[in-house]
Amino acid sequence: MSRRRRVYEGKAKILYEGPEPGTLIQHFKDDATAFNAQKKDTIDGKGVLNNRISEYIFTRLNEIGIPTHFIRSLNMREQLVREVEIIPVEVVVRNIAAGSICKRMGLEEGTPLPRSIIEFFYKKDELNDPMISEEHITAFGWATPQEIDDMMALTLRINDYLTGLFYGVGIKLVDFKVEFGRLFEGDQMRILLADEISPDNCRLWDVETNKKLDKDRFRQDLGGMVDAYQEVARRLGILFENDPDNRPGPTLVKSD
Ligand code: UDP
Repeated sequence: MSRRRRVYEGKAKILYEGPEPGTLIQHFKDDATAFNAQKKDTIDGKGVLNNRISEYIFTRLNEIGIPTHFIRSLNMREQLVREVEIIPVEVVVRNIAAGSICKRMGLEEGTPLPRSIIEFFYKKDELNDPMISEEHITAFGWATPQEIDDMMALTLRINDYLTGLFYGVGIKLVDFKVEFGRLFEGDQMRILLADEISPDNCRLWDVETNKKLDKDRFRQDLGGMVDAYQEVARRLGILFENDPDNRPGPTLVKSD
């Protein structure tokens, strides 16, 4: 397996060539970065948890008819996915004010938004992922108006579904980021949900206490990042307690 061709290495994941044409292996690393990689660390066990959580969420989304790149899980850190042409736009949806919108709009963290708000960011590390509008996306040819409509409609469906899924396990879905890709099949092209959905790219707060169960624990030096990610997995009922790779922390609570 170590001789596989590495197609791309990002901050938290590596993409390897897959076993068949048109497939890739998405490998989840333990690396954590924030503030455009100015802050870096290795968090033992994070990759395993994100692989598991993202696999679970993508499987549920596939079941409700959201097209995704996910094919199947391969092992504790890897999943087989369809190779897509990534649209260089990060789609963020927000339900409650947190992070960059607080600074930009002068909102207090935790303020419920009047409705779910979608924002677009240009995926370009060198530029610090600047916020963009639909005008930039169409003018620079990153996506067509139809593709933007499709991405927005899918993102709102994902938001509705995940808000309910997380609320059911006592977690508020504050905001999250998704990425989409194009899949070419003959002369047909369709948009698929790509990348991952995990506590690395969602804000998740406990319903009762507002405890942060996401990457803000790392960004804000709150500690207990793996414990928080484990808590998310445990509440979703997907924590493998006996897996050696799982490295359960001291606060692990037995699942029901
Ligand atoms: N996000 C992400 N990748 C990015 C930027 C943001 O996954 O490059 C996620 C982040 O985890 C949060 C949401 O998108 O759930 C909104 O992030 P925000 O714009 O507030 O940025 P931040 O201040 O967290 O960098």
